[in-house]
Amino acid sequence: MDEKEACKRLTVCMGDITRLEVDAVVNAANNTLLGGGGVDGAIHKAAGPELMDLTRRLGGCPTGEARVTPGFRLPARWIIHTVGPVWRGGGQGEAGLLRRTYRNSFKLALDKGVRTIAFPAISTGVYGYPKEAAARIAVASALEVAEAFERIVFCTYSERDESVYRRVLEEFCG
Ligand code: ADP
Repeated sequence: MDEKEACKRLTVCMGDITRLEVDAVVNAANNTLLGGGGVDGAIHKAAGPELMDLTRRLGGCPTGEARVTPGFRLPARWIIHTVGPVWRGGGQGEAGLLRRTYRNSFKLALDKGVRTIAFPAISTGVYGYPKEAAARIAVASALEVAEAFERIVFCTYSERDESVYRRVLEEFCG
């Protein structure tokens, strides 16, 4: 697939990821998979307590890896939980780890037959990853696999983040 076709499958939106009608939403979880603040808290709250009953049994998730659960009360059929790196200045392998969260999430999505998927801006909240650099990794990773999906959504949660993604998409896709 040429780059232009791949670019058409990438979209940016702003709003609550728990509301999106996609096959899978990605959760920026932490190593325990037991919920937390930010998007993780919102997903657990919206999916209902059955989610925690299940994640408690998964035994956590190492940074860079991903795990899949049903979406329970979400409109999305699946939740892909992935753990992004905490930003420690950039010299601790953060970029590689963030890339792995996207690649592993896409891999699990493909295993489940997912055609539409939405990502939050992994690691850019309390984990402190610089937003623009993180968005470049997100977009580059999505372009690598776009031909296998119908739609890949970057779900931002502020106007500022939305414009970061739009700028980065423009950079890659023109
Ligand atoms: P991390 O610990 O990986 O940094 P956070 O949840 O703190 O994860 O932040 C990741 C991103 O998710 C941030 O950009 C934050 O604004 C965003 N976010 C928080 N709540 C939601 C939500 N309900 N839907 C989509 N994005 C959200």
